[in-house]
Amino acid sequence: MDLSLTEDQSMIQEMARKFAQSELAPVAERLDQEGDRTHFLHNLKRLAELGFMSLNINGQYGGTEAGSVVFSLSVAEIAKACASTAVTMSVTNMVAEVIQAVASEAQKNTYLPRLCSGEYPAGGFCLTETTAGSDPSGMKTTAVLDGGEWVLNGAKQFITSAEYAGVFVVWAVPDKNVPKGKGISCFLVENGTPGLTVSKAEKKWFFAE
Ligand SMILES: Cc1cc2nc3c(=O)[nH]c(=O)nc-3n(C[C@H](O)[C@H](O)[C@H](O)COP(=O)(O)OP(=O)(O)OC[C@H]3O[C@@H](n4cnc5c(N)ncnc54)[C@H](O)[C@@H]3O)c2cc1C
Repeated sequence: MDLSLTEDQSMIQEMARKFAQSELAPVAERLDQEGDRTHFLHNLKRLAELGFMSLNINGQYGGTEAGSVVFSLSVAEIAKACASTAVTMSVTNMVAEVIQAVASEAQKNTYLPRLCSGEYPAGGFCLTETTAGSDPSGMKTTAVLDGGEWVLNGAKQFITSAEYAGVFVVWAVPDKNVPKGKGISCFLVENGTPGLTVSKAEKKWFFAE
């Protein structure tokens, strides 16, 4: 089996490396410590412009269609320079991939171009709760159909880039009567939806003594 990279894969890996080392590495520590929102948003926009926010998304939605190998190579290069940016990039790609895999065509046409182009700085993936981490079956967030609209109730935690996300994939349980762990479904929730509150970001850095 030939595991060597194709010319395209090598080229995109090199592009990720150059971008990461020249634009992310010099500011990574400062952004983590000071939380410079404007500069972080600029970096996310650059990632989208270079096609790194939609590596497995079809071209018809504005995606890069570069494949999983390129995704792994790229996120590794970004992470070498700035782990925070790499996590946001990784989650945003994941959100786009979930939408591409299971959303309706109308939802794909609405949300994917916004994620691919950087109109949305990031996507949010809302699974984890205080009672649901490694084991999502402990999920307590409910979804109830009320007058033709789904009403979600619950609280998520550790949501990467929640303050920057334009849209969230939110996991919830629509039917409390199903056995534990069954029936978990996902919903698209736009940032700014009435009733949605994004709380303050966790401080994730510390100085070693
Ligand atoms: C940088 C970062 C970004 C994140 N971003 C997101 C995000 O965008 N969206 C989101 O939904 N979540 C996110 N998370 C949350 C992450 O998915 C959870 O932290 C993870 O699922 C683990 O859940 P937990 O923290 O509740 O730990 P727990 O599930 O409570 O696990 C604690 C420890 O117990 C161990 N453990 C658990 N169950 C078992 C078992 N059955 N047997 C043996 N050992 C076990 C685990 O390995 C772990 O060491 C993020 C987390 C981090 C660190």
